[in-house]
Amino acid sequence: MTAPAVFQFENTDHPPSAASSFTNTSFINSEDALSDCRLCPRNCHVNRLRGERGFCGEAGVIRAARAALYYTEEPVISGTRGSGTVFFSGCNLGCIYCQNRLISRPGRSQAICPSSAGTVDKSPLEYSSSEVSAEVSAGGTRQAALPLLTEITPERMAQIFLNLQEQGAHNINLVTPEHFVPLLIPALTRAKADGLIIPVVYNTGSYERVEAVKALEGLIDVWLPDLKYVSSALSARHTGAGDYFQYASAAIAEMVRQCPEPLFSDGSHSIDCPDDADDPVMVRGVLVRHLALPGCAEDSRAVLRYLHETYGDRIFISIMNQYTPMPQVLKLDAGLCRRLSDEEYDTLVDYAIDLGITNGFIQESGTVSPSYIPVFDGTGIVQVTCNISR
Ligand code: SF4
Repeated sequence: MTAPAVFQFENTDHPPSAASSFTNTSFINSEDALSDCRLCPRNCHVNRLRGERGFCGEAGVIRAARAALYYTEEPVISGTRGSGTVFFSGCNLGCIYCQNRLISRPGRSQAICPSSAGTVDKSPLEYSSSEVSAEVSAGGTRQAALPLLTEITPERMAQIFLNLQEQGAHNINLVTPEHFVPLLIPALTRAKADGLIIPVVYNTGSYERVEAVKALEGLIDVWLPDLKYVSSALSARHTGAGDYFQYASAAIAEMVRQCPEPLFSDGSHSIDCPDDADDPVMVRGVLVRHLALPGCAEDSRAVLRYLHETYGDRIFISIMNQYTPMPQVLKLDAGLCRRLSDEEYDTLVDYAIDLGITNGFIQESGTVSPSYIPVFDGTGIVQVTCNISR
């Protein structure tokens, strides 16, 4: 998920959290984890090394659709030179409103996209509701262009990270990497041995086992988790995971345990001027995102309350308004068939301020746009070869 951040609340310094008793684990430090996969709470028990696919839809090889500089994350992530963002294929959440469905559910996406989309960067927002409705009622049989997904060895993945560093990226931004953790550990280890020095950002939906987060200790510098719901009813309805909060909150606790205090590139622990082009970027810490959904204000307030009461200013919170109604929600949840209103968002932001949240990001209105859906064309992933013949 991506978000342009445009505003920071006033900062207040707080001491870091007390040390915890967590220790590292070898739970997923081996590909054995893929042979009977229970990496995440879905507990699929499939042998991904033999090509079997569980809920996330991915086998035992990393697949990704794009690795490029990205400029529309929060400014402490994108900075001025861009975030070196890698979009992985598959997802262990499967939110019914997912706007990256072309790569999160590859093989199923084409059945729900308007036929005239033509290229994958053209969002259904560019079509009228009657066009989308007609597509859905027609059975969604027409197809959009498919993303270019490429299989990647850990060694090639390390090269891709180093290429992004050479392009000037402030960081390596791993988007939806949860189901590839056992393969990313050797990739990151190799890249760091070969000269990767920029921070690594772990951009996750947070439906994680704590053991997986622990296994990444020392390899991840900035944790960028979502906290989507507190309500088990909502998480069950929208994401098919009634235990989402139980796992996500535990995963975030472990992330904060590893990175108990934000650190920025200028050596400070806070930022004062949110919109300055030369703002420092985050080099260590936890930034939790919450995407506000239409008609779900009570749960959004519960998310913010939980985060603030639990972590105060030891974390940053990004409150996002960019919810984009995709065609599939027309037949799955009528309540999600509209954008978040400005009034709903402003009320939520006011609530955050009243809570006392000071380290946060909000979005301007008008950020619901197809431009936030990247082109999944293999950029930065596909190796171009040239055959020269005489
Ligand atoms: S990582 Fe994928 S296959 Fe493994 S348990 Fe999770 S959803 Fe299932």
